Amino acid sequence: MQTKILNIDENSLNIAKNLIKNGDLVAFPTETVYGLGANAFNDYAVKSIFKAKGRPADNPLIVHVHKDYDLSLLVDEIPDYAKILSKEFLPGPLTMVFKSKNKVSPAVSCGLNTLAVRIPSHKGAQEFLKCVNLPIAAPSANVSKHVSPVTAEHVFYDLNEKIPLILNGGKCQGGIESTVLDCTGNVPCILRSGLITCEMIAKIVGNCLIYKPKEGEQVRSPGMKYKHYSPKCKTELFTYEEIEKAKELYLKSIENGIKVYILCDDECANLINVENLLNLGKTEEEIAANLYDKLREGENLADLIIAVAPKKQDGVMVGVMNRLSKACKS
Ligand code: AMP
Ligand code: MG
Repeated sequence: MQTKILNIDENSLNIAKNLIKNGDLVAFPTETVYGLGANAFNDYAVKSIFKAKGRPADNPLIVHVHKDYDLSLLVDEIPDYAKILSKEFLPGPLTMVFKSKNKVSPAVSCGLNTLAVRIPSHKGAQEFLKCVNLPIAAPSANVSKHVSPVTAEHVFYDLNEKIPLILNGGKCQGGIESTVLDCTGNVPCILRSGLITCEMIAKIVGNCLIYKPKEGEQVRSPGMKYKHYSPKCKTELFTYEEIEKAKELYLKSIENGIKVYILCDDECANLINVENLLNLGKTEEEIAANLYDKLREGENLADLIIAVAPKKQDGVMVGVMNRLSKACKS
């Protein structure tokens, strides 16, 4: 099967709708990364997402809906704080986990009694979701464990011949996956950090926790236990304080004929002053938006990417560091 890449218009949306109704998969852009979507009611279609990605069968999927979709069809027990957060942040890069009404395929939540739901703000994503008017189960549209895709070309690289259609909406502006927020308790609890930060949530509803699994406990966000976001080449991660060490390794690698690139923010780029550089940019938002794009660029250029963490470690950088440290895990 040849994978088509089509810009989003009436014609491609109709093709996408027919594919989804037939139980096929469609990749689509969101404001975070590209998603690989299937009709969440269709058990066969949902299972084929896991097959196309090589995704572990215990890593649940997020269900995406358009902004006028009645979420109470899918989930129960929506606490007041979640309603307030929805008004503030949705549509946007915030996924909320509620008690499931078990209306979608059980394969979506991998047997958990909860369901993760999200209303993306990306115009093309909204058009696609509105056109199909179905809940769309969608993980990131990459082969499992590889770097998440932020362009249609990235999706094509990973999934060519495995899916019929990629809706092309250009480069994703957000760059890292949505914040996953557990809304089943008295206080919201972040299971995966993203662009909507703990500080932003606490400012609106007074309190927000960040989940850390205790030793021996079954993890509440199964996806977070896996190696993830990894480029094909070797990687090394240094802290901002270790810039000198990073440069030493860079120079030694050049001497040994290794194709090596430094991946870092603009501040570090100015200090480290090397030729082979993958510059993530200046602001928190730029760094998040460029992270996966630069990792994918780097894996095609380098045998070794030496990443240097940004100095700032709070806010959006919590999410960036979470991805960067997983990408560089051996
Ligand atoms: P991805 O689809 O690759 O962006 O990953 C989805 C993330 O959402 C993973 O980290 C999952 O573990 C998490 N997730 C999805 N559904 C649930 C759920 N019902 N409860 C907790 N975490 C979930
Ligand atoms: Mg993913």
